[in-house]
Amino acid sequence: MAWRSSSGSNRGLIENLYRNGLIKDTRVRDAFLTVDRAHYAPSIPYDDSPQPIGHHATISAPHMHANAVEALLPYILPSDAHPTPRVLDVGSGSGYLTHVMAELVGPNGVVVGVEHIEPLKELGEGNMAKSKEGRAFLEAGRARFRVGDGRKGWVEEGEESEKWDAIHVGAAAAEVHAQMLEQLNAPGRMFIPVDDDISQLGQHIWWVDKDKDGKVTKTKHYPVRYVPLTDAPKK
Ligand code: SAH
Repeated sequence: MAWRSSSGSNRGLIENLYRNGLIKDTRVRDAFLTVDRAHYAPSIPYDDSPQPIGHHATISAPHMHANAVEALLPYILPSDAHPTPRVLDVGSGSGYLTHVMAELVGPNGVVVGVEHIEPLKELGEGNMAKSKEGRAFLEAGRARFRVGDGRKGWVEEGEESEKWDAIHVGAAAAEVHAQMLEQLNAPGRMFIPVDDDISQLGQHIWWVDKDKDGKVTKTKHYPVRYVPLTDAPKK
């Protein structure tokens, strides 16, 4: 039960998520412990619940963020064989998950958050700049925020040949968009909420895995409720 993890402090919230089995890996727990959710969630930051952040967006509940990071972990963590993980966070919103993943990718890794609403891109960046650690990530280019339509994935200028080892999608997609899949590394994993059908009433989390030979396997996980991945609102 999600609410059982709520607490009065950041440490309390994260320790509760760990105790309740919603965070399983100590490396994930430690990464979450370094990021104060109060810098990202405006009202009740240490509640295990989603909260509005403006522009019809919400910061997801901590247990959802935890689950996403657990799912993507093998592709986010650096290793001797692969010291430079590249992670794309589509619909970065508050920037919270972008920050947590930047902790995990290590000094040579990169996390890029893509938002289609400029003020939300600014919000995520500004939230990250509230902490010394966040500012260091931004200055080093280890965490970057960009404006764009995440349904097309994202290609960094000057890094056109680089793919993404992990893609997190923070809004519900009508489908696994072709450009996102194209940009997924082999091997790599995408964590994406996808509409069950055109009614947009139901959604499930899917893992889209690409193996080292480029073979794609899609696995359906649990039902969720995310805001939709849409066209940017008209200005
Ligand atoms: N991971 C964020 C989730 C924010 S809600 C967090 O926990 O804070 C989903 C976000 O997806 C919103 O900020 C919304 O603006 C963004 N979004 C929706 N459609 C998009 C698109 N086509 N491209 C990029 N971002 C999009």
